[in-house]
Amino acid sequence: MDLNKYYRKIPKVDSILENEKIKKLLEKTSRELVLDCVREATEDLRKLINDKPDNEDEINHEINNLIGKIALMLDRLTNYNMKKVINGTGTILHTNLGRAPISKEAAERARNIVTGYSNLEFDLEQGKRGSRYSHFEKIIAKITGAEAALAVNNNAAAVLLILSAIAKDKEVIVSRGELVEIGGSFRVPDVMKQSGGILVEVGTTNKTHLHDYEERITPDTAALLKVHTSNYKIVGFTESVSIEELSALGKKYNIPVIEDIGSGVLTDLSSYGLTYEPTVQNSIKAGIDVICFSGDKLLGGPQAGIIAGKKHYIDKIKKHPLNRALRIDKFTAAVLESVFHEYLEEEKAMENIPVLKMINMNIEDIKQSAEKLSKKLKDFSEFLDIGIDECLSQMGGGALPLERMKSYAVSLKPKTMTCTSFERELRNIDVPVIGRVLNDTFYIDLRTVLEGEDQVIYDGIKNLFK
Ligand SMILES: *Cc1c(COP(=O)(O)O)cnc(C)c1O
Repeated sequence: MDLNKYYRKIPKVDSILENEKIKKLLEKTSRELVLDCVREATEDLRKLINDKPDNEDEINHEINNLIGKIALMLDRLTNYNMKKVINGTGTILHTNLGRAPISKEAAERARNIVTGYSNLEFDLEQGKRGSRYSHFEKIIAKITGAEAALAVNNNAAAVLLILSAIAKDKEVIVSRGELVEIGGSFRVPDVMKQSGGILVEVGTTNKTHLHDYEERITPDTAALLKVHTSNYKIVGFTESVSIEELSALGKKYNIPVIEDIGSGVLTDLSSYGLTYEPTVQNSIKAGIDVICFSGDKLLGGPQAGIIAGKKHYIDKIKKHPLNRALRIDKFTAAVLESVFHEYLEEEKAMENIPVLKMINMNIEDIKQSAEKLSKKLKDFSEFLDIGIDECLSQMGGGALPLERMKSYAVSLKPKTMTCTSFERELRNIDVPVIGRVLNDTFYIDLRTVLEGEDQVIYDGIKNLFK
């Protein structure tokens, strides 16, 4: 087949650069960048002709659309890709949407610190080198009862670091009911392997007794590890060993007991109508030697892995070379300090930490927000059937997997397009609105829509239909 008939139709670079639309782009962007896109687009076109020479329609369409494609490529390259979105899914810790949102106040404090120099690692009293953990270590100790603390990149890093520092080439005993996998390839056996620790599984999936642990203790045992089954529940004929019993066993044999508690819950959630989730304080009180948890799950802070416990072990962990590779930066240190500050008073935490605020929302308030938004959106009733529906929000982020919270959603059923197209359009506006689609209807759960965002939703939909 003679492909030249197609190749001849591809405009030459010089003539592309003379195109009015491209000329406009050249005013805003560097010539190199424009040329790169021109080359990439024409190469894609040649490849298409080569690979699918029989596809005449597609090839002609792409040739005619070449300028548009170059413009789009440039647009994608020069516009910011990471942006704010509105979470109308009702999943509070939506992993794909960045888990825990940070309060404006905490972000503002961090902005102040990172746009200039700070005492990140400078002890202002002594006038010499300080520790990046000093900004929150005392507060964590105060809140949780732990002697010392540090923070690393995330909880996966925390587990890896603890095991590397305490159990390399030695045995760690874990219950078979707690060999957890968290989304994104965190698996307890794999992390153990990576750390150099040797996994000793005990008990069965549904039942593990204290004697199961005790029978496997040898001079090679470096630690007993408890992992919170944050994202699943084993129910029915089950038994696991309490942290109190495990701590006592560790003491008896002088072996440290480590707990990966997953979410950093510092408040008793059962007083807010949720299922009780084990708190960090409770574990420390029970005698756990080293505990770790996520910064951006129920704690409601930045991505981080917080490690707290007995000073002797925390010092060892701080000194481990891997810690240097996993350390947090100044953004995280600043936000962590702000978040822990809120926890000094539980009431303040419930009010000022967005995740806790969303958990603790009054159902009547959510209903009112839904009514307010649906009323606003009535301006578009020509295009949308608008209603309010009861719905169920969830925690997400692999926390409280069975918990559902009653909530209210605005339902939007498009009249002039399919719901699939509507959902796609809403994903591609300036501030994308991410919701749930059910029975050809788009739902926005108001629990996860933050203050002031109803106007943003309104503006976005207005632009779509204008
Ligand atoms: C979420 C979770 C992790 C991983 O934490 P990240 O902060 O996401 O790295 C590890 N262990 C448990 C038990 C968890 O729930």
